[in-house]
Amino acid sequence: MPALRISELTIEYFQGGYSVRPVDAMTTEASDGELVLLLGPSGSGKTTLLSCLAGLLTPTSGRVAVGETEVTALEGNALAEYRRHGVGVIFQAFNLIPSLTARENVAAPMRLAGARRREANTRAEALLTRVGLKERMSHRPGELSGGEQQRVAIARALVHDAPLIVADEPTAHLDYVQVESVLELIRALAVSGRLVIVATHDERLTPLADRVIDLTPERTLAVGRREVRLAAGEQLFEMGDPADRVYVVDLGRIELFRPLGAGGEEFHAEREPGTYFGELGPLLGLPRSTSARALEDTVLTGFGPQEFRHWRAEKNDGA
Ligand code: ADP
Ligand code: MG
Repeated sequence: MPALRISELTIEYFQGGYSVRPVDAMTTEASDGELVLLLGPSGSGKTTLLSCLAGLLTPTSGRVAVGETEVTALEGNALAEYRRHGVGVIFQAFNLIPSLTARENVAAPMRLAGARRREANTRAEALLTRVGLKERMSHRPGELSGGEQQRVAIARALVHDAPLIVADEPTAHLDYVQVESVLELIRALAVSGRLVIVATHDERLTPLADRVIDLTPERTLAVGRREVRLAAGEQLFEMGDPADRVYVVDLGRIELFRPLGAGGEEFHAEREPGTYFGELGPLLGLPRSTSARALEDTVLTGFGPQEFRHWRAEKNDGA
């Protein structure tokens, strides 16, 4: 049985009336002992997916199973228990308590779970030794470097010996010397009995991983020009679609709009002959931020990003 199984997972947010779907019908799995990299640029859904794996966010639909635990079916006490013991979380910003020493920060979740002070301290010391902080146990976060703070956070994530460890951009705030020690440590966590999932926007980390889950939005760059004819009411693309071409209206009219959660829509803009739309998606590698539909019989030219630059340069010269 895989250590992690994600089936048809969809997570949708509603922002100002319309929906974004950073995770869309995702199906994947990972095995015990693996280091899995969750790769994608900012906004691609890494934190969203990790939050769902950690039981902190309920998905719109689909399932997540960690070992034999069906996380997406947990409720109430069982969910609280999973969050506390089933998964260790390492945050981008360390999330250490500034007034507590390294030892106390690591001991805190054990104390919360009812462990005695002696017992919690002994285990905290063993874990801090393991992450190379034997000499730093009595320091407070403010007296530690970023890399050392991250290692305290890693030790803390290990206290309950959870079968799943998730780390959200664990190297984002570190310099290169610190990055190395933190990555070595994370790599070493991925042993039998544990699955480690690391979210990052940094593609350079891929060689470290046993498996890569790529959340990078699809980018299909078109080349050349293409004529497109639409009948009145016909849709050209939908918000969220991968963006490949920039469109110039030759004849007719295009309406840009955003579908709303409740089935309605929000008007965004209208485009007339000689004007263009949909340029940011293909140029920046982002999905369509609106839908586009013909208001009457319409003829368009769809340009690859390169040809679009030429078209605009010529147009500006002529003006
Ligand atoms: P990443 O961690 O890869 O940068 P996120 O998971 O934080 O990506 O965000 C993915 C998308 O979901 C973004 O478009 C973001 O604006 C949106 N999003 C994230 N959290 C929320 C939220 N709580 N409410 C509404 N939209 C959100
Ligand atoms: Mg994030």
